[in-house]
Amino acid sequence: MTTHKNSQGWRPQTLAVRGGQLRTGFQETAETLFLTSGYAYECPEEPEARFKGEQDGFTYTRYGNPTVSMFEARMAAFEGAPVARATASGMAAVSAVFLSALRVGDHVVAARAMFGACRFVVEDILARFGVTSTIVDGTDLDQWRKAVTPATKFFFLETPANPTLDIADLRAIAEIAHKAGARLVVDNAFASPALQRPMDFGADIVVHSSTKYIDGQGRAMGGVILCDEEFLSQHLQTYLRNTGPTISPFNAWLHLKSLETLNLRMKAHCENALAVANFLAKQKGVNRVLYPFRDDHPQVELAKAQMSGGGGVVTFALDGGKEEAFALLKAIRLIDISNNLGDAKSLMTHPATTTHCKMTPEARAQLGISDGMLRISVGLEDPADLCEDLEQALQKALP
Ligand SMILES: *Cc1c(COP(=O)(O)O)cnc(C)c1O
Repeated sequence: MTTHKNSQGWRPQTLAVRGGQLRTGFQETAETLFLTSGYAYECPEEPEARFKGEQDGFTYTRYGNPTVSMFEARMAAFEGAPVARATASGMAAVSAVFLSALRVGDHVVAARAMFGACRFVVEDILARFGVTSTIVDGTDLDQWRKAVTPATKFFFLETPANPTLDIADLRAIAEIAHKAGARLVVDNAFASPALQRPMDFGADIVVHSSTKYIDGQGRAMGGVILCDEEFLSQHLQTYLRNTGPTISPFNAWLHLKSLETLNLRMKAHCENALAVANFLAKQKGVNRVLYPFRDDHPQVELAKAQMSGGGGVVTFALDGGKEEAFALLKAIRLIDISNNLGDAKSLMTHPATTTHCKMTPEARAQLGISDGMLRISVGLEDPADLCEDLEQALQKALP
C-alpha cells in the first residue's frame, strides 16, 4: 500500500478529494473497497507482533480496515482534526464519546436544542450509570457558566440546532469549557465540514452523522468522531475495539467517495435553501422563516462568522397549527414527506409529531417548536420547481 507523500499544505477542498488515499500495487485511481472481515499473515510471528502493537497492520475489521482508514484519514484532514474514527451511525459516534470517557460521578452540560436521540443518551442512558447532566439554553453563555460543577467533563451542543436553527457561539463556549477543565463536543451534522470546522473555534471533539450530508444521497448510515491523540488513546480506541460499533467497509467507501463532492453539493444546498427561504418569507400564511444566513435570523452575524454557508435546512411556521401543517404536507407533490435530511431529494417533516414528538408540549414551546412548524431539507432539484411546489401546496392548504 502506498500513500500520498505531499499532502502537507493542501487546502481543505483538495484534501476532501485526495486526503488519506491508500493505493495497492495495482495503482488504482479510485479508492478500493476492502470488503473483508479478516486478514491473513505470512507467518505466526506477524500476528504476534501486530497483537503486541509492535508492528503496523490490520488484524480484524472490528479493529481496523483499509477502506475505513481512508475514510477516517480524509475526514480528519478535511475537518482539521488530529485523528478520526468512523462508526456505524451518528448515534454510535455520540454515545461512544460519552461512554468511553465518563464514569460514575461525572457531569455533562448540554444544550437544550439537541437531536432527540442525543438527548436520550445524555439524560437517560448516562443517568443510569451515575453521570448527571444539566440542560441549558445553548445560546445563553451565562447558563453554560452557571451549569459548571467540579465534576463537569463535557460540554455538548449542536449548531445549527435542529429544527429551529439556533446558532451556538463556538469560540465563547469552548473558552468556558476549557476554563472549567471540560471538553467541548460539537455535533456538526447540520453544517458538515464543508461549511463549518468547529475545531478552528476551539472545539475538542466533533461528531458527525455521515448518514446526512456526507453521504448526501440518502443511502447509507455512518458516523465519525474527530478528536486528539490523547482522547483516542486514553478513552476511545479501546472502547471502540471492544464494544464494536464498527462501520461497514461498504458504507465507509460510499462516504469516503462522497467527500469528494461534498463542497460542491453543500454550495448548491445552501443556494437552493436560501432561495426557498426567501420565497417562503414572502408567502401569505407563513408567519416565520428560520434560516441562518437570512438577515432576520437573530444570530445571522454569528452564523456568518462560524459558517461559510447557511446550510440546507429551512424551517418555517404557518398561521394555524397541526391541521394546516398536515394539509400542506398532503398537498406537496415534488418534495417528499420524510424526517431524514441531507439528501439530494428535498424532504419535509413536521417536527412536533416526528423528530420532537417525545417531548412534552411545554418542552417544545420552550424550544420554539410550534404545531404549525415544518422543516425542509432542501435538496439539489431546481429551486424554481421547489418554490412552485410549495406555492401550489400553500394555496391548497391555506386557501
Ligand atoms: C441524524 C442526526 C444524528 C444521528 O445520526 P444517525 O446517523 O441517524 O445515527 C445526530 N445528530 C444530528 C444533528 C443528526 O441530524
